[in-house]
Amino acid sequence: MAVEPLIFELSKPGRRGVRFPDPDVPETPLPAGIARERLDWPEVSEIDVIRHFTRLSQKNHAIDIGMYPLGSCTMKYNPKINETVARLPGFASIHPYQDEGSVPGALRLMWALQEMLAEISGFHQVALQPVAGAQGELTGCLVIRAWHEANGDTGRTKILVPDSAHGTNPATAVMAGFQVVTIPSDARGNCDLEALRAAVGPDTAGLMITNPNTLGFWDEQIEEIIATVHEAGGLVYNDGANFNAILGIARPGDLGFDIMHFNLHKTFSTPHGGGGPGSGPVGVRAGLEQFLPGPRVRRFAEEGEERFELFQPEASIGRVHAFHGNFGMFVRAYTYIRMHGAEGLRQVSEDAVLAANYIRESLRDLYDLPYGDRTCMHETIFSATRQKAQGVRALDVAKRILDFGIHPPTVYFPLVVPEALMIEPTETESKESLDHFIAVMRQIAHEAAETPEVVQEAPHTTEYKRLDEVAANRNLNLRWRPEHAEAQAREAVAAAD
Ligand SMILES: *Cc1c(COP(=O)(O)O)cnc(C)c1O
Repeated sequence: MAVEPLIFELSKPGRRGVRFPDPDVPETPLPAGIARERLDWPEVSEIDVIRHFTRLSQKNHAIDIGMYPLGSCTMKYNPKINETVARLPGFASIHPYQDEGSVPGALRLMWALQEMLAEISGFHQVALQPVAGAQGELTGCLVIRAWHEANGDTGRTKILVPDSAHGTNPATAVMAGFQVVTIPSDARGNCDLEALRAAVGPDTAGLMITNPNTLGFWDEQIEEIIATVHEAGGLVYNDGANFNAILGIARPGDLGFDIMHFNLHKTFSTPHGGGGPGSGPVGVRAGLEQFLPGPRVRRFAEEGEERFELFQPEASIGRVHAFHGNFGMFVRAYTYIRMHGAEGLRQVSEDAVLAANYIRESLRDLYDLPYGDRTCMHETIFSATRQKAQGVRALDVAKRILDFGIHPPTVYFPLVVPEALMIEPTETESKESLDHFIAVMRQIAHEAAETPEVVQEAPHTTEYKRLDEVAANRNLNLRWRPEHAEAQAREAVAAAD
């Protein structure tokens, strides 16, 4: 009979992690009503608590454990200095209701971050409040609507979205009340310019384009695309989540984009994944800043001294989040930018693009490579069609990668590539780490040809095998119950035997 692991129900009556000294003042009962009779908290020792949380922390993959080439998500390493700075009491302990005059340092940091993001992107003004890329997109769509309304131009009901866009683009356009018109990609993976020309008109509110796009390509006709939409009276929104490819090399504001969101939690290394706080600031060209959400921060001079204050732009679309956005993320992104400097940021993008192309060239003999005559930007997309003919799908390849301590790439996205494997290594992986990943992918391609069951039945080394993903999605249940935990522990033992 299997020995059951000491996993979950560790509580023993009377067991303590900490023993306080006996009180040397008389015990005084709390006023009635503010304390519960008893709390059903586990009674455990310090080592039980430490082992419990350390074990839990290792159940999921993380960038601090291994490579995480999840395409489009830019899972780069988050430098620990960001955390050190974000934990400084002057940042970590302030309250959003505190008087402005008592937090000049925090306001100065927000102002400086607005300025730095504007400088890096070529936009006129930046609002920090949105707390996700998708929320930045929604903000951008609302700014587009506010601008047309301010011009008395009420017939512009449509947003054009190329089919290589991130799924959040059409979703946010619909949430902002627009109809979405999909523009196909051309044979080179660019937005089809002829189709775009045919689609624009007096009902065009704007175009939302992901550039570099989700195929990992810089659109070769981006300037014509922007001009086409502008001539029709629309605005052009750049989904800037892929900004990690072009830092210090190209500025979307200079190219003529009107609006863009940043993903601080991708490009500027604030942690993400697991549903933690994000940050999706929005930059706009001159003439749109009055619509931005607030509060924003501005600088002024008083008695020759530099001062900062919060303000709400005159024609603001309003708040998109409580208070000022996710301030702790501003501190981390600010730290990251200051640690790198202008040259360092350019190096980030050069190395990210080099790493992606290195993988692209090292695997093209074993995996199909759509648009194979192009070089990629920050990510490269393979197609597992050859493996599919051998009975191994992109999903199986992804599961097999787990056996090597690597997070799988994004699969089945972008939709325009069948059996897509979307790989974004980022600049923070070493040459050895990239070579290890390449070796893993080559081995899996050979297994697919020779012993496909090894790939079809993967993962072999993880605690859990394949989950019922549909059930997990439809009946998501995040509540812990002891009876479930014990059943799971028994299953894990049975599986390990
Ligand atoms: C991640 C991503 C988004 C959405 O960002 P969230 O912060 O997850 O809302 C939008 N577009 C692209 C291209 C992305 O990669």
